[in-house]
Amino acid sequence: MVANWRWLNAQSGGAACGAAVKADGYGLGAREVVRQLAAAGCRDFFVATWAEAAALMPLPAGVALSVLHGVRPEDMAAATSLNARPVLNTSDQVRRWRAAGGGVCDVMIDTGINRLGLAPQDVAAGLLDGLQVDVLMSHLACADEDVEDNDRQRRAFLSLADSVPHRRLSLANSAGICLGADYAFDLTRPGVALYGGIPRAEATGHIRQVARPEAEILQRRLVPAGSSVGYNATWTAARDTEVAILNIGYADGILRGFSGTGHALAGEIALPFIGRVSMDLIAIDVTAAPDLREGDWVAIDYDLPRAAAASGLAQYELLTSLGDRFERVWMD
Ligand SMILES: *Cc1c(COP(=O)(O)O)cnc(C)c1O
Repeated sequence: MVANWRWLNAQSGGAACGAAVKADGYGLGAREVVRQLAAAGCRDFFVATWAEAAALMPLPAGVALSVLHGVRPEDMAAATSLNARPVLNTSDQVRRWRAAGGGVCDVMIDTGINRLGLAPQDVAAGLLDGLQVDVLMSHLACADEDVEDNDRQRRAFLSLADSVPHRRLSLANSAGICLGADYAFDLTRPGVALYGGIPRAEATGHIRQVARPEAEILQRRLVPAGSSVGYNATWTAARDTEVAILNIGYADGILRGFSGTGHALAGEIALPFIGRVSMDLIAIDVTAAPDLREGDWVAIDYDLPRAAAASGLAQYELLTSLGDRFERVWMD
């Protein structure tokens, strides 16, 4: 993960490289993600909610945290007491923040994604005048595609930057960083690529896999030709087959879309999932690994682009689905 951040930092050119750690660090454990990236030199972190911000306190020294959902009425107590900045998204949020004293904040401008953010015309009318804005940001809708929308959003962002007070400008997520130096501005905000997601072809060969789920064999059995495995008997043995049952399932985030398409790995040997993925169990064909025994561990193939293709899930979903039953172990 740290190597991925270093690559994204280098690709960000003169811009600082931050880190999106929302959804518990995309499922990997936000506290440890922040600790490691802060030690590597990352200074700007982003979460979605104030509960996520509170869970990261106290922050490592010299680190700043921004809360992307901004300030709803019920967020004001946290927003005025925690060491984090809101990202203001609406006129109401701006008024609410001013009414509470209006300390340093970030602002999201909508330049075409039509998700969160202030409209450029609101901003041009002086809505933000006098506000202490650190990061003025916008978010790209199609950065993982080669479409004109990217440059249109970039130019819209640039054209309004002059009329809005700010310390820093920020536009690029992981895919946006791959679009090149024009998109980096002062600060980039990668998320998925930190955790091994390949947002665009430019990242292939540079971004490394981070999450490597493993499971233990609870039982090994011989399934005779003609017998089936798992719920609804969706797989039937064409010949006598060596099968192992793993202690992992869709409750751990290995979702049912992997049924019949995912596989485990014993070293380089691929061991196909067979039958339905259950809540807590997955059956694999271990014919190719005669030495595997009850109590042995295997990896689940979680190379994100490949697992996304096998399951029909987004690389993002594969990460954020990983469940609480895993022991999260960090290795160098
Ligand atoms: C989640 C998020 C990011 C990170 O996006 P990735 O595609 O995971 O790199 C950056 N900025 C905003 C506003 C986000 O919501």
